[in-house]
Amino acid sequence: MDEETRQRIADMDEEQLHRIANLPKVELHTHFEGCAPPVFIRGLAAEKKIDISKAFKADGSYAYRDFVHFLEVYEAATSVLKTPEDFARLCTAVLEQSAENGVIYQETFLSPDFCGGGDVAAWREYLHAIQEAASVAERAHGIVLRGIVTPIRHFGPDKAKRTALCAAETAGDWIVGLGMGGDENKGKQRDFAYAFDMAREAGLRLTTHAGEWRGPEEVRDAVNDLRVERIGHGVRAIYDLATVDMLAEREITLEVCPGSNVFLGVFPSLDQHPIDQLRRRGVKVTVSTDDPPFFHTTMRDEYVNLAKTFGWDEAILTDINKTAAGAAFCDQTTRDAILKKLEPSS
Ligand SMILES: [Zn+2]
Repeated sequence: MDEETRQRIADMDEEQLHRIANLPKVELHTHFEGCAPPVFIRGLAAEKKIDISKAFKADGSYAYRDFVHFLEVYEAATSVLKTPEDFARLCTAVLEQSAENGVIYQETFLSPDFCGGGDVAAWREYLHAIQEAASVAERAHGIVLRGIVTPIRHFGPDKAKRTALCAAETAGDWIVGLGMGGDENKGKQRDFAYAFDMAREAGLRLTTHAGEWRGPEEVRDAVNDLRVERIGHGVRAIYDLATVDMLAEREITLEVCPGSNVFLGVFPSLDQHPIDQLRRRGVKVTVSTDDPPFFHTTMRDEYVNLAKTFGWDEAILTDINKTAAGAAFCDQTTRDAILKKLEPSS
């Protein structure tokens, strides 16, 4: 760490950290169900008389011992979400939580596999309910939500094609992208090229999870084989500087989720996380929470932690938000409105 950064960290007082926490934020990488506030899930489970008490700690937060247990808890928690109405209510709860954290624009991964079992007609119904709730939240809190349809990698390429069809059929100014999630250790990025080509043909923008669990090669595969313009995580690119430079040169935006990475042990601690190094080497980095309540994080926490660890001040964080707005998959009118809100004077 250089002397200037050390000094900036030393000079940070509570007031500045408070201003940093309150900055307007653009968040590109969230999983819709993964944003579910525990209190909302507990309430829905009680209404439906589904016992998922094992998923919670005594203080009401999500409980788990390790990554495998986390997946079980995630599955149990999200199993109470069944109907379009459930997803509409989830949308309301999620956007309220995001708005409280200063998020002004959010993109979220939505899975037709969980919303109607991959059937296009059923998917439209879920989507309609979610969009309605999102417009109400936009009027109430000023927060704008856009959806990215997500094929689940470990469900395999055939299901991904069906998912991409749902995406293509509903592509427009609200469903704006295709972004693969799921287990990165299963198969290759190129196995999903057909699904990504279909989405691109339909005018959708592309991202995929890569370089969270696997290394730089996976990041290169994502760029070369799926021709994505953003990458979910991508942080393990740091183990090969040629890959890092390729990301910078081709202006690929990374959706970095530092709290998630530390929580899941991708890096042992925030000060050993490569986000600052990637930024300094010219990569377009952005900041998101992934599945915030599951990783016991919020956008406010992320910003404060980044400020305290790397000396990121308002200017750097505003710059990062502008990068995120630039890489957002929304239309230009929406982007211009976001950029305006990021100006310190507004
Ligand atoms: Zn993710």
